[in-house]
Amino acid sequence: MTGSLMVHRRRLKPDQARYAVLRAELQGGGELVYDDVRRLGTLLLLNEKEWQRYSSALGPEPLEPDFSVERLGLALQRSRQAIKKVIMDQRHLAGVGNIYANEALFAAGIDPSKPARRLQPDDHRRLHTEIRRILGAAIASNGTTVRDYKTGTGEPGNFQLELLVYGREGQPCRVCGTRLTGTHAIDARISVFCHRCQT
Ligand SMILES: [Zn+2]
Repeated sequence: MTGSLMVHRRRLKPDQARYAVLRAELQGGGELVYDDVRRLGTLLLLNEKEWQRYSSALGPEPLEPDFSVERLGLALQRSRQAIKKVIMDQRHLAGVGNIYANEALFAAGIDPSKPARRLQPDDHRRLHTEIRRILGAAIASNGTTVRDYKTGTGEPGNFQLELLVYGREGQPCRVCGTRLTGTHAIDARISVFCHRCQT
């Protein structure tokens, strides 16, 4: 959400420190700086016990082995909510944000507004595969820079060049040519999808 967590090897210039809410000196030299322009971020200082309590309320990390098709399927079967809302809910899955939810649902051919419990085992398998594939590809491209995202060393990401739906509402679907639909009706965030490819 606009902020950045960055390692600065050189002394910060005054304008670089304007939005810094945390500056931590590193043992090997340099500084770890958390910039929070919009003041939307949260930093928690937790001890071991508090961390365990905090992390036990989160779902699995999508790229870790404990994120299985079965576990995803169970979470989806129990929910009447729109599939997009469920995969962005940190209690079910940790770390799928709006851009990657849009892209994974397109790649899996699933309408983002479809109630999660109506998905079939075959949908679970495709969605599981696509969430992992898309996050892996985005990490390999150093993330997605739509406005101001930067990597930990200050470089922009490159995955924005590979987005198939996010940011493309009104443009033709790259698979079938249908005009992509954009809506805020599902979760107040932008959802972009293809009526024809996502059923
Ligand atoms: Zn399409």
